[in-house]
Amino acid sequence: MWTLGVDIGATKTEWMLFDASGAWVLHHREATAALAPNQWLAWLRQCVAPALLHGSRLRIGIAFPGVLSKQGLLRASNLPLLDGQLTLDMLQQALAFDVTVGNDCRLAGWAEARLGAGRGVDKVLHLRLGTGLGGGFCLGGQLYSGHQGVACEVGHQGMASAWLAQQQLPLWRCGCGQLGCVEQYVSGRGLLQLYQHAAHLPTMPELMQWQLAFAAAEPAALKAWQQLWDGLGWVIAGQQLAFDAELVVLSGGVVAAGIDLDAVQQACRRALFSGVEVPTIRLAQLANSSCYGAALLAGAVFNDPSARSA
Ligand SMILES: [Zn+2]
Repeated sequence: MWTLGVDIGATKTEWMLFDASGAWVLHHREATAALAPNQWLAWLRQCVAPALLHGSRLRIGIAFPGVLSKQGLLRASNLPLLDGQLTLDMLQQALAFDVTVGNDCRLAGWAEARLGAGRGVDKVLHLRLGTGLGGGFCLGGQLYSGHQGVACEVGHQGMASAWLAQQQLPLWRCGCGQLGCVEQYVSGRGLLQLYQHAAHLPTMPELMQWQLAFAAAEPAALKAWQQLWDGLGWVIAGQQLAFDAELVVLSGGVVAAGIDLDAVQQACRRALFSGVEVPTIRLAQLANSSCYGAALLAGAVFNDPSARSA
């Protein structure tokens, strides 16, 4: 049986079609349509149409930036037109195939644990630093999603109060409604808020503004960069006390742009009490890891992980 892994993001949608051996056959990427649910479902069907031609026995996994509620609704604050408007049944009817759905960061972590940087490692924690911060924990090659499917929702845990005090930072309101969530400090958005705070800017700057200031070695821009990686070290330390991972895999646009790994490891060491080791930290290896994870969720078997490519 062939498998289609679809990754629906806030800005782009990407899919990969895999044959029965797990070899990659087709890959497609386009901007995610901003449409009302019914038109959006029609758009999704058209987007994946080339894959749907490949046989009547196709299984489909979909990764999306949110959670499936107990009522079966897709909740995704980064997809405002679809948030709480779509059900799994609606996706299945639109695509006319069996569909499974899961959180994009958790599925990406599963793919990294099975096929990427965590291959062969028993306890793998994945953290993705994009606009926000997502995570996923895998044990023995299996994804742990928890009772309600919100396990490892790292971005909406509270940032360590000791770190906030050390850095003399206030509690910032998160899009989820809570105060002081981790992703308000340790993420792409976090970097910009840290810079805004350090530079006393009246509004949140664009990424380009921070990049120019960083290139010019402006102290506030450098300070925000240091705080970001120091904060990540504290976040990893907190996760160690929950999951005790052997390996932490980091991914996402913020990490791809450059990471001060030494700073992360040193901060993690300072944040852990004596006798607890800092885990090995590696960068993610897979491109399109959420597509691979969505395919895994749908039941894809990858006979030869080393043959993966896209
Ligand atoms: Zn939050």
